Amino acid sequence: MIPSQVAYQRPTNINDALQLINDLGDDCKILAGGHSLIPVMKLRLNDPENLIDITGIAELKEIRDNEKSITIGACATHADIANNAALKAACPMIPHAASMIGDIQVRNFGTIGGSIAHADPAADWPAVLLASNASVVVKSVNGQREVDIDQFFKGLFQTAVEDGEMITAIRIPKTGFNKNSTYVKFVQPASRFAIVGCAAAIDKDSEIRVAFSGVSATPFRDTGIENALKEGQSVESATANIAEGVSVMSDHFAKANYRKHLAGVYARKALSQLV
Ligand SMILES: Cc1cc2nc3c(=O)[nH]c(=O)nc-3n(C[C@H](O)[C@H](O)[C@H](O)COP(=O)(O)OP(=O)(O)OC[C@H]3O[C@@H](n4cnc5c(N)ncnc54)[C@H](O)[C@@H]3O)c2cc1C
Repeated sequence: MIPSQVAYQRPTNINDALQLINDLGDDCKILAGGHSLIPVMKLRLNDPENLIDITGIAELKEIRDNEKSITIGACATHADIANNAALKAACPMIPHAASMIGDIQVRNFGTIGGSIAHADPAADWPAVLLASNASVVVKSVNGQREVDIDQFFKGLFQTAVEDGEMITAIRIPKTGFNKNSTYVKFVQPASRFAIVGCAAAIDKDSEIRVAFSGVSATPFRDTGIENALKEGQSVESATANIAEGVSVMSDHFAKANYRKHLAGVYARKALSQLV
């Protein structure tokens, strides 16, 4: 289907974009890579009158290597991230996960900001960013706030981003656990989305973070596994009660019990690389 007629604007700086988003309110949608929004518009599930294309804002594409963190602009594409040397050194699971997203076209257009704003439960970034203890920089005409990743994903396609706000960056702390990190996934063979994705970041002396995409409507950290590993349990024993208390998704790709089984298999795969 062809989307309804829509007005299109492409601001070249953040303030102009925020002003447009504020002035147009519910009548506009932010457009980044368009790989989720355009299909949804074609199906007329979303029918905005205005599109604010933010990919012309140079600042949003930057990946900056700071002293204690790396800041990834919201419009950095998956391909930009997959090829970034600073991220490869500080947090290998991030470029590795980026390199596994979709195909070349998807990686060249899809953006990290668009992906986490969309909050598809099968997307790869949620697990990886939860495991990395990232934070999300969000701006509006009223100012800026930084949302801890543990507070960011609120449910199926729901996040902490409020009306009038735009994600401008994702901040990754440079830590010991991020240096020792990995991401593995069981892919949906056509799209490459995660039926189950497991990200893990481990520094045995300080922090252990293990997170999942694809398993439930909301991506989550498995604190049961984290605590068991901190107590010194083996990978096998720590993953015995995986996703406890989590409502596991069931669909035509994988029923809940099979998905839970896969979560265990992929958690053990990730953890055995790191522990
Ligand atoms: C064939 C195919 C295969 C794919 N495979 C995978 C895969 O294997 N793994 C995976 O994780 N993903 C996959 N994707 C998703 C893709 O990687 C994109 O990340 C995703 O579509 C959203 O990013 P986008 O930049 O295209 O956002 P858009 O489609 O432009 O926007 C998505 C939503 O986010 C909002 N938005 C965009 N940017 C911002 C911002 N900065 N602040 C606030 N709101 C914003 C938009 O208004 C819209 O609601 C696939 C997509 C396709 C089409």
